[in-house]
Amino acid sequence: MGKNSSIEWTHHTFNPWWGCTKVSPGCEHCYAETWAKRVGAKVWGATKKRRFFTENHWGEPLKWNAGAAEDGQRKRVFCASMADVFEARADLDPWRKKLWALIATTPWLDWLLLTKRPQNIAERIPWTREWPNNVWLGTTVEDQQRAMERLPVLLKFPAKYRFLSCEPLLGPIDLDPWTVRRPESLHQIDWVIAGGESGTNARAMLPGWARKLRDQCQDSGIPFHFKQWGHWAPVPAPKTERAPIRGFWDEVTDAQIFMEPKGKKVAGRQLDGATWDQVPVTS
Ligand code: SF4
Repeated sequence: MGKNSSIEWTHHTFNPWWGCTKVSPGCEHCYAETWAKRVGAKVWGATKKRRFFTENHWGEPLKWNAGAAEDGQRKRVFCASMADVFEARADLDPWRKKLWALIATTPWLDWLLLTKRPQNIAERIPWTREWPNNVWLGTTVEDQQRAMERLPVLLKFPAKYRFLSCEPLLGPIDLDPWTVRRPESLHQIDWVIAGGESGTNARAMLPGWARKLRDQCQDSGIPFHFKQWGHWAPVPAPKTERAPIRGFWDEVTDAQIFMEPKGKKVAGRQLDGATWDQVPVTS
């Protein structure tokens, strides 16, 4: 069973439902909301119903699991791209229960649960001290404020791997308090994914922000995955600043840099001439 997700860092994507409510600056241009609207699903916001799926949909991961077992190769499943698994709504509880049961019956799949609401996790998981081996737990941290708020909560849970999605990266993030540079917090974070925002209204991710994350990960032995520049890419300084090229002050490098809205495909995903595709080594 091959890869069915266009997201670089996962093999498959599974959505237990569609719909969500915005919670922080990273949600401003939520692609899932845009996509849902495009296909006529009115599922965004606290007052809107969520969209649920049939048994056919829920049967897909069973097929992925069988394929992975046959190949003897574990597969990663991102859950969820069109929702937040830990959104606090009672109507989602039965579907969460169904998801926990599915995770238990698919041991060849590593389930990557990513949330912007780590404060809701404790009340909604069926696991206490012993977490299943096939659950990775992640939170999105788009800037330092979200790192300070969400990371300490994430790190309370003994998931096999705990990861960060720094996408869309909206400012510099200092991971030092949670890396091996602080001996008391040895290897608390197991994986960092970083990327810029895509779409015509995207906010630029400055190179210094991405480099700082990469360097801190490298220094601490944390696998680093650079997903994309997004809509804006760094360019050499023009002789005179002119639209659409814009100048930004990069506080990490204390220098002016220039960015051009090239679009996600052209902007690519190389950082300083290298592709960063690291993932935790699984057994
Ligand atoms: S939490 Fe995720 S899915 Fe929900 S609105 Fe924010 S970006 Fe969109």
